[in-house]
Amino acid sequence: MAIKSETLTKILENLTNVYKIANQPCNRVPLVDQIVYFILSREETKEKVQAACQSLTHHFVDWNEVRVSHPREIQEILTQHLTKNVLEKAIRIKEALFNLFNLYNRLDLQFLWEKDFLELQEIFKRIPGLDEEFLCHLVTVAFFESDDIISTACLRVGSRLNLWEEADPYSLKKNLLKEIGGFNVAKLARLLHLHGEAICTLAQDCNKCCILAACEYGKKDLQQKAESGNDLKPESGAKKQPKRIVPKDKPNLEANRNKHSKKEIKASKNEDKKSKQNQKANKKK
Ligand code: SF4
Repeated sequence: MAIKSETLTKILENLTNVYKIANQPCNRVPLVDQIVYFILSREETKEKVQAACQSLTHHFVDWNEVRVSHPREIQEILTQHLTKNVLEKAIRIKEALFNLFNLYNRLDLQFLWEKDFLELQEIFKRIPGLDEEFLCHLVTVAFFESDDIISTACLRVGSRLNLWEEADPYSLKKNLLKEIGGFNVAKLARLLHLHGEAICTLAQDCNKCCILAACEYGKKDLQQKAESGNDLKPESGAKKQPKRIVPKDKPNLEANRNKHSKKEIKASKNEDKKSKQNQKANKKK
């Protein structure tokens, strides 16, 4: 996978003009909770990680108590919900809390939201284990209030735009993080997701697309539709039967034919009746 930077810049620019995305993070997002969530989330489902975080906050008074607790005690709580590398994760949580405490002498870090986000990125880079992937997670949560980084819609639009070949969101995220960094991955994924929900749906509307110029898939799709005339057909796909039109001044021959034949039958019946009456009269004579 290699995204051409000029193509990417153009795509991001056009999509940003159409979709309104936050340019400031939500400062209510609890920073330490997100660090713990991120450490626990590797190879586990969202539901299990949420349950594990809840158990930690119920069992311990605060993150400072977690920091000074034995890793085995943390592991014991986590194993109620998680199965993958639980002791290793417990140790990583303790290390991250230890490093943060060393830096700020406290673990209530909400005041950090007052800093510029670029500065915040630099701070997290100094904490071992909080890499570009953590940054991507934090941006997705704090800017876009979501925890789904590579959604199905995002995956579909990126493939159509030929930005990547990966069909697996995990390996795609890993490769993207290496190429364009956490902040850009989060932003690109969000914009492609919004576009995939609005225009580049399963039945894409390429005529309305703001990035058509960068999309060979869309250009081919429009060409094929124009050639087959698909875009002119009714949406249901069912052809309407033409209505039979009968000119008002044209005589209805069939009805007239019936009318005539009824008259003829009546006349012949009358004739039969008359001849029978005549025959009877002749016999009497
Ligand atoms: S041109 Fe069509 S296929 Fe390409 S991104 Fe736009 S809507 Fe999707």
